[in-house]
Amino acid sequence: MSDKMQEIDHEKEKQDILKAYRKLLRAAKRYEAKGDLKLVRKAFDVALDAHKDMRRKSGEPYIYHPIAVAEIVTTEIGLGAKSIVCALLHDTVEDTDLTVEDMRRMFGDKVAQIIDGLTKLSGVLDIQEDKSLQAENFRKMLLTMSSDIRVILIKLADRLHNMRTLESMRRDKQLKIASETMYLYAPLAHRLGLYSIKTELEDLSFKYIEPELYEEIVAKLKESQAKRTRFINKFSFPIINSLNEAGIDYEIKGRTKSVYSIARKMKSQGVPFEEVYDIFAIRIITNSELDHEKPDCWKVYSIVTDHYVPNPSRFRDWVSKPKSNGYESLHTTVMSESGKWVEVQIRTKRMDDIAEKGLAAHWKYKETGKAGSPTQSAESGFDEWLAKVRELLESPDRNAIDFIDDFKLSLFAEEIFVFTPNGEVRTLPADSTSLDFAFDIHTEVGMRCIGAKVNGKLYPLSYQLKSGDQVEVLTSNKQKPKEDWLTFVVTTKAKSKIKQALKEEKREVANEGKELLDRKFKQWKITNDREMVDKIQKHYRLQASQDLFIKIAKKSIDLKDIKEFIENTRNAGKWYNVLRKRITGTDSSTGSTETVKPKSSDKGDTVVIGDANQKMDYVMAKCCSPIPGDDVFGFVTINEGIKIHRTNCPNAIHIRSNYAYRIVPATWANKEDHTSFVTGILITGIDDVGLVNAITTVISKDLNVDMKSIAFESNDGVFEGHIKVMVEGIHHLNNLMNNLKKVNGIKKIVREDELDD
Ligand code: MN
Repeated sequence: MSDKMQEIDHEKEKQDILKAYRKLLRAAKRYEAKGDLKLVRKAFDVALDAHKDMRRKSGEPYIYHPIAVAEIVTTEIGLGAKSIVCALLHDTVEDTDLTVEDMRRMFGDKVAQIIDGLTKLSGVLDIQEDKSLQAENFRKMLLTMSSDIRVILIKLADRLHNMRTLESMRRDKQLKIASETMYLYAPLAHRLGLYSIKTELEDLSFKYIEPELYEEIVAKLKESQAKRTRFINKFSFPIINSLNEAGIDYEIKGRTKSVYSIARKMKSQGVPFEEVYDIFAIRIITNSELDHEKPDCWKVYSIVTDHYVPNPSRFRDWVSKPKSNGYESLHTTVMSESGKWVEVQIRTKRMDDIAEKGLAAHWKYKETGKAGSPTQSAESGFDEWLAKVRELLESPDRNAIDFIDDFKLSLFAEEIFVFTPNGEVRTLPADSTSLDFAFDIHTEVGMRCIGAKVNGKLYPLSYQLKSGDQVEVLTSNKQKPKEDWLTFVVTTKAKSKIKQALKEEKREVANEGKELLDRKFKQWKITNDREMVDKIQKHYRLQASQDLFIKIAKKSIDLKDIKEFIENTRNAGKWYNVLRKRITGTDSSTGSTETVKPKSSDKGDTVVIGDANQKMDYVMAKCCSPIPGDDVFGFVTINEGIKIHRTNCPNAIHIRSNYAYRIVPATWANKEDHTSFVTGILITGIDDVGLVNAITTVISKDLNVDMKSIAFESNDGVFEGHIKVMVEGIHHLNNLMNNLKKVNGIKKIVREDELDD
């Protein structure tokens, strides 16, 4: 009988899978996916057969995943049949017996090439043994991306579906995947102009990284929905009337901020939900013919500002000159009757499509022949950006980690437009300097840059450019890159080229120093040079032998001192072993190395904080100063044992996405032993005589709280107090903060992340 049950289940499962497939096919037709839909059926059959015995963590047949990814690819990104085929097959080469050759035979060169790219990328998702490997993988991803952008678009769809179904994973996997998504995938989606996917990726990551705050914001958003709707209706009413009178074909929407952006605002400004929840944008989308787009947008702008006064400093025109990721829109912020600023976004249906779906929508408009000049500039802007990425990736001898850090910074940057002396427009990230501009023109121009004329006036290299500036670079053959240039350039290209040049120079100096030392070694009759260099380097606490050679070449370490050191150590005998013991806690005679890696026996071990039997050494991280009750994890450091961080520490995302292998779980011991932990609170309020007194009274009344330090600053009647207290845990701290809230004049109390000594 059980056999029969099984059979019926299989039959039903088959029917359900077919249903899901037909839904995908309908979606492809609705979104006018270009290309051969017969090929889609073939891909579905191949994928279904290849994955037939596999199931996802949730228990459902694996094939649902590729189908869902394919659906995202067509409905949410707007790609064609070939991409649907690749999405359906994206995990086959990685997880089944099928090969790239099979793909080529069945689906042709292009599909095989894209699936090959996707397969190579899958390493990015694995937990990496070390950071440089991880960075190398990101770099690989970018390289693949610049060869066929569809690889990265399908990868983003894959990641989006994995994030949507993250529930069934283990907590540590959830955190790792969520952090990675926040660290790289969301910024990439942003850069490619896929705004709705970017927002969803951020919200989903945030949901797993800080579940409590996420749920709180979601609940409060729901609660305040009616109030918001009323406000939007009231605000839009006069605009709607005038738009109708003017006979404009339009659609109007109120857009709430995403959960994640509300959380970010609450944190960065230290304000409660109530002070940010009603910040939203009104979007007016016109249905315009291509050659009427610009006048239509301006007509709407004129109507909006007839009713409400605009804030001139917050006006943006991305219709005349789109962002380099293709974004086009007019933004203005106006004052509403209730005294609140409201952002109004004005754009056409085509622009809105591009804003939601990114560059894939560009192609769509281009292919259907609807495109005119407006898309042209947006597209060339994007191509320009891709060309820059490619150029960077091709530069040899680049430290992958540095590259990713620099590159990541540039993903979110706002942009400015500046002009060459000939009137050619260049797009640069906001805060770019004349030196960035010089590197943008040409690497050699950057290397030799000594200053620039901006709008005819002479300025230094570090001058920050503004949109509309016209820049002429001044160069000299005697100039060469300097260390301090790195403190003000912002573009990835400038940073990368300067670092490369400095490294080259350092290498030359180091070689000089090494030759000097070698000669001395011969004089002193030292036979084992390498071991000795190692000893000297440790003596001066230098990171690398190169640093030692440079110091010797620059004479900041005297060779006489080195000679003395060598003589002393010879006399001291076993100094090395002693020193080593002190630095690493290991004995060189046992042969263990100083690289910190969690021993295999530690795997799965949890650091129990406050437990007397705890064998592992740990300290509280200063960046987030955890206290009992906080959700925490341990991070194995090279020199300071295990550091305990809060799961919502500002550094946690970076740590998790780069050093997952060095993370150990941590919890708090449950017993009440009245150990205290230091943490910081930040109080702001209106300055008043006696306020400081009132605060210290509240704190000292609580007999269990020790105040470690207190610093007050007052500025034009607003005061800011930084207080460090010793508390037993989160409940204790909340209690104290609640008591402080009752003090008259206090406006805001937040826990402070950064504790500097
Ligand atoms: Mn997948």
